[in-house]
Amino acid sequence: MSAIEFKIVKKIGEEAPFARAGILTTKHGDIETPAFVVVGTKATVKGITPEMLKDTGAQVMLSNTYHLYLQPGNEVVRDAGGLQGFSNWHGPTMTDSGGFQAFSLGAAFGKNITKFTKGESEILLQSRRDESSPLKPAQIDANGVMFRSVIDGSVHYFTPEKSIQIQHDLGADIIFAFDECTSPQEPYAYQAEAMDRTHRWAKQSLMYHVFDEQGKIKEASERQALFGIVQGGRSEKLRKESAEVLKNMTITLPDGSTKGFDGFGIGGSFAKEDMTTAVEWVNGILPEDKPRHLLGIGEAEDLFEAVEKGCDLFDCVMPTRNGRTGTLLTKYGKMNISNAKYVNDFTKIEDGCECYTCKNYSRAYISHLFRAKEMLGGTLATIHNIYFTVQLVKNIRESILNDTFFKFKKEFLSLYHKEE
Ligand SMILES: [Zn+2]
Repeated sequence: MSAIEFKIVKKIGEEAPFARAGILTTKHGDIETPAFVVVGTKATVKGITPEMLKDTGAQVMLSNTYHLYLQPGNEVVRDAGGLQGFSNWHGPTMTDSGGFQAFSLGAAFGKNITKFTKGESEILLQSRRDESSPLKPAQIDANGVMFRSVIDGSVHYFTPEKSIQIQHDLGADIIFAFDECTSPQEPYAYQAEAMDRTHRWAKQSLMYHVFDEQGKIKEASERQALFGIVQGGRSEKLRKESAEVLKNMTITLPDGSTKGFDGFGIGGSFAKEDMTTAVEWVNGILPEDKPRHLLGIGEAEDLFEAVEKGCDLFDCVMPTRNGRTGTLLTKYGKMNISNAKYVNDFTKIEDGCECYTCKNYSRAYISHLFRAKEMLGGTLATIHNIYFTVQLVKNIRESILNDTFFKFKKEFLSLYHKEE
């Protein structure tokens, strides 16, 4: 049996790419798709235990190859029995390739930049052209990327083979091919060059994932699924080319059969207005029967758009990062719980929410925790925000199954305002 199996239960829409509901079977359990993948960067979803995570309805956790390689080291995680054994999260897991962090964090090392949200692609762009930057363009070469550790500034080199080896040690059910994530502001010529490099690295990742030095099939490739990552920036031509190349990328096994990617990631930092069109171009080409993961997306309206255009999986630090800073997600939009108006507000964060936090605590209490800088504040807010996002995607799934997707989308987004 292959590392994963993917079954589409229902498809809706006028023409491809269709919105779909499916079941993705991994060695550590099933994921009902579309699904929101919770980010546990360093093998922990910050501030909550795996039991709390499970209680939110979360099905799958994504950890970060770059961070776990630097700390505690992939061998430590391997010797603990992989991510599941190490973290005590026993459901399905994923790891990213580490490419994005190697580029963005490595490029910014020593520049006193600590926040990486929407501006990170711009930071990368500047750093690449900044002669004083520790990561000069020459340090991205045909074989990989040299970067500095965010922890101690030590120098490291990632290649496709290295990324896959680390991800084999981490042992997640779904892993990603090594890629270069470009800024949408990069010129076309650079996007094309980076995309070709990503394709070469994808092939190397696939080879290393499957074959050992003697040309025998690695056991890890039967346990872990490998997703290729589509890049190409905001160019229709490049995005379509990337989807086409990765869709057809296969290697020949000793028995004469061929093996390609088990699924696909859609990468890149999108300018807001580009996301839907880029996803539509790509999913119109990618094979229907393989899962598609849109990397780094988690805002409500983006989730609806991405599902409508045929994506199955999403991950984003937004719900957890917002939770830690006291920004709570509700069906009316985001609320800042530290706001003075909540000091005496003894209602729940969101009426009707079934999460642990809303079942047991008031806005006033959570507001107090944040003002008093108590640890529990971030924990309770994180639980609610994960529950909110996970449930939203579950409800989107239900609406596909019930043929009410477009009605649900319209109703939800008419109430939901992005800013408070
Ligand atoms: Zn709640």
